[in-house]
Amino acid sequence: MGGLFGVVAEENCVQTLFYGTDYHSHLGTENGGMAVLGNKGFYNAIHNISQAQFKSRFVDGYKKMEGFAGIGAIDDESPQPLIIRSKFGVYAVAATGLISNKESLTAELLNGGASFGEMAGGGVNNIEIVTRLINRADNIVEGIASMRGVIEGSICALVLTAEGLYAARDKLGRFPLALGRKKDHSIKAYVVATEASSFENLGYELVRFLGPGEIVLITPDGVKQLKPEGSAKKICSFLWIYTGYPSSSYDGIGVEIARERCGRFLARRDNIAADFVAGIPDSGVGHAIGYAMESGIPFRRPLVKYTPGYGRSYTPPSQDIRDLVATMKLSAVRDVISGNRMIICDDSIVRGTQLKNYTVKKLWDNGAREIHVRPACPPLMFPCIYASSTRTNAELACRKAIRAIAGGSVDNVEEYLETDSPAYGKMIEWIRKDLNVTSLKYLAIDDMIAAIGLPAEQLCLHCWRGRQ
Ligand code: SF4
Repeated sequence: MGGLFGVVAEENCVQTLFYGTDYHSHLGTENGGMAVLGNKGFYNAIHNISQAQFKSRFVDGYKKMEGFAGIGAIDDESPQPLIIRSKFGVYAVAATGLISNKESLTAELLNGGASFGEMAGGGVNNIEIVTRLINRADNIVEGIASMRGVIEGSICALVLTAEGLYAARDKLGRFPLALGRKKDHSIKAYVVATEASSFENLGYELVRFLGPGEIVLITPDGVKQLKPEGSAKKICSFLWIYTGYPSSSYDGIGVEIARERCGRFLARRDNIAADFVAGIPDSGVGHAIGYAMESGIPFRRPLVKYTPGYGRSYTPPSQDIRDLVATMKLSAVRDVISGNRMIICDDSIVRGTQLKNYTVKKLWDNGAREIHVRPACPPLMFPCIYASSTRTNAELACRKAIRAIAGGSVDNVEEYLETDSPAYGKMIEWIRKDLNVTSLKYLAIDDMIAAIGLPAEQLCLHCWRGRQ
């Protein structure tokens, strides 16, 4: 989905920008970048991070940068931040999310006389579209507001100007933006970020979360609201289930605590006799700890991740790389597995291939007696349409099951969404057999909503319902 980090200070802030942006590395694997504004004007650096982590690509370069304000981004789709010369002066811009009407907007802008640089590999950089739309208005704030108005999908943006840093959360607050302030109040400095967890180690404290649609101007002297928050909110539920970092929080609700609550709900609906509970490292661990706390069944680690060498395997866009990483990064602990009945909590099942071919196979190969899989969200039925996603409808495990059960593709999947329907039961049984596990039981949607702790109408549930 991508992540943003921005900082404004009365002193050189490049180190804060470097580490703050790096703390968003779990949100993308393709592009990383930073732009700073200092006494010599704007300067940016952008690297492809698909083969080397953000830190190693920028660690030498950032020490040569200097500036009192900066923005950084991790994004799978568009290299950024870009520096733009416009009628408003020079500014730097970074934005994450998804422009689902990109083709029609590009055509409209081209017909209006705009031109775009060509990205490596073809296509138009989303940030160029964002800036062309901002520049159509009379000022930057109205430009951001009107840009968000015509974009279908969802965009959060940071715009760094000589006046300060404009931060804008997407219209429905689908993705978060948190404001932080230097803990030492004698130093004038503010930060804004997708992940509030990036603040603590940098010496900043959380002030608040921007509301849906809110736009603020951040300077070393403070934060000024320029557009108030809207009344409607649809924050991404998947942040708490998988995407977000365990130490982070969104709109005041902590990720790890929500995951523990998911696990507790899974345990309350279960009656399995097992020797231990485990989480798929790392994103299933919080859910598994909650399950263990609720059930009293001990938490153990049958699989450990070789953390020095491997990152996540969900975000790489190529299936080949995902599969290779999945194979290599998990080591089985035979002494824990052999002869035991285990409950395995996973955040979710997307395609099911990694779970089946690597996790479950490793557990059986090492002598597991029973394997009970408990995903911490309902079956994923739809790809995300608000952020770049590696999921497609056809490859989702549920869709494969439905196609197999129905003997062909099925457009209307309503009957498969209800947990007490026969169709749902058949779908789960097909997936269980395909995964080759002893039992399979997903978290129910009402339990997931309760575990997150926000009213259902404030949550995006599109992944599971196909509607908001
Ligand atoms: Fe989040 Fe899914 Fe909604 Fe996308 S569709 S914003 S991943 S809940």
